[in-house]
Amino acid sequence: MKIICLKFGGTSVGTVERIKKVSNIIVSYAKKGFKVIVISSAMSGVTNDLIRKSKKISNNFNFSEQDVLLATGEQMSCALIAGRLNHLGFKSQSWMSWQIPITTEGNYKSSRINKINKKKIKDYLKSGGIPVITGFQGINSKNRLTTLGRGGSDASAIMCAKFFNAYKCIIYTDVEGVYTTDPNSLKSAKKIKVISYEEMLEMASLGAKVMQPNSIQDARLNRIEIDVRSSFVKKLGTTITKRKNIIRNKIITGITSTKNDAKITVVGIKDRPGVAASIFKPLSENSINVDMVVQNISATGKETDLTFTIKSDDVSKTSKLLRQNKKIKFKDMLVDKNVSKVSIIGVGMITTPGVTYRMFQTLANSKINILVISTSEIKISVLIKKNNIKKAVSALHQEFKLSY
Ligand code: ASP
Ligand code: MG
Repeated sequence: MKIICLKFGGTSVGTVERIKKVSNIIVSYAKKGFKVIVISSAMSGVTNDLIRKSKKISNNFNFSEQDVLLATGEQMSCALIAGRLNHLGFKSQSWMSWQIPITTEGNYKSSRINKINKKKIKDYLKSGGIPVITGFQGINSKNRLTTLGRGGSDASAIMCAKFFNAYKCIIYTDVEGVYTTDPNSLKSAKKIKVISYEEMLEMASLGAKVMQPNSIQDARLNRIEIDVRSSFVKKLGTTITKRKNIIRNKIITGITSTKNDAKITVVGIKDRPGVAASIFKPLSENSINVDMVVQNISATGKETDLTFTIKSDDVSKTSKLLRQNKKIKFKDMLVDKNVSKVSIIGVGMITTPGVTYRMFQTLANSKINILVISTSEIKISVLIKKNNIKKAVSALHQEFKLSY
C-alpha cells in the first residue's frame, strides 16, 4: 500500500467552495493509485470563535471542557470533506480521533500524540475507503478529549504519516511554501525549494508561521519527509527533509523576525554566586520561557545588570515574580516591549567562518543598534528596536544573497 497523508489547514477548508476544491485535490491522489489519509484542521476562524465563546462563559473556563469544545471545529470540516468525497463517488468516512483512537499524553490544551491505533484505518484503506481524520486532537488515558496546541493539526498529520508509514506527508496551506523571509513584508523573499528539519524547526520557532514547531520536531525524530504547498495554486512548494538530501550553495537559508518579545533589565543586582539562578528559578517554576540572556560584568565587582528576553504576554507575571523575590536585591527594573528578535538561520554557517561578523557589520552599516545577541550552531539572533525590523531584514536578505 502506498500511503500518502494530506493535511489541510484552516483557510484551505475555510468555505464550502474551498472544501469542494480540496476534495478534488484528494481525488487526484486517489486516482493516481495512492491510499490517501486526509487530516483536516477546522474551518478558518472556527477555533478562535469557540475560544471567544468559552471566554464569555467564564474567564476561568475548565481546560478539559475547552478541549471538548475546540475539538468540534475539526469534526465539522471532516464531515463536510467526507460528504463531498461521497458526492464525487468515492468511499469516504470521517474519523474522530477517539474513534481510531489517537491517544495523547500531557496537559489539556497542549497534549502530544503518543500512539495511533492502526487497525481500523488500515482495514478501511484496504477496503478502498478514504479516511478523513480530525487533526489537532486525541484522547488521554482518562478517556477525555485533548487538543495539541494551536496549529496542532500539523502534528496530527506528521504522526499519522509516522504510524501508517506513509511515503510522504503533504501540508496544504494558504501560502506556496516556506520563504527566505516573510513575503508579506519583503517583496524579494524567495520560496525555498528544500530545507532541513533543523533549519525549519529554527525558522518556525523564531517566527516563521508556516508550521507548528512541535510537528517539525516530530517529523525530524521520525524522518518523515514533508511537502508544504498551497491548496489555492498548483505549484511546487517546499520540501522539508534531512540534511543529507540537500545540496545548497547558500550559507544562510532564511531570516525571521518576531513581534512578541520583551526585554527586561534588572539593574544593580548584588553580584554573587547563584544570583542568576535565584532570578530564573521562580520564572521557570511558572513556565515562563526565558530566551536571550546577558549579564554585564560589574565594574566594581559588587553590582551587575542582567538583561533577558521573554514573550510580551509574560511581562506582568515576570515583573511581579521579580519584585516578590526575596532572594535578590536590585535597584531598578526596566521593561522594553518595543524590541524584536531578528535571526539568520542556515546549516551553512557551521562550516563558514565570518558569518557573525557579516551580520553585525551589515546591521552597523544600516545604523541599527544591537541590544542582545544569542547564537547556536545554525542560527544567530540579535535583539533590535522594533522599528528597525524591516530595515534589518532587508539588509541581511541582500547581504546573504537570498533574493536570487
Ligand atoms: N484548528 C486548530 C487551530 O486553529 C488546529 C489547527 O489549525 O491546526 O489552532
Ligand atoms: Mg493551522
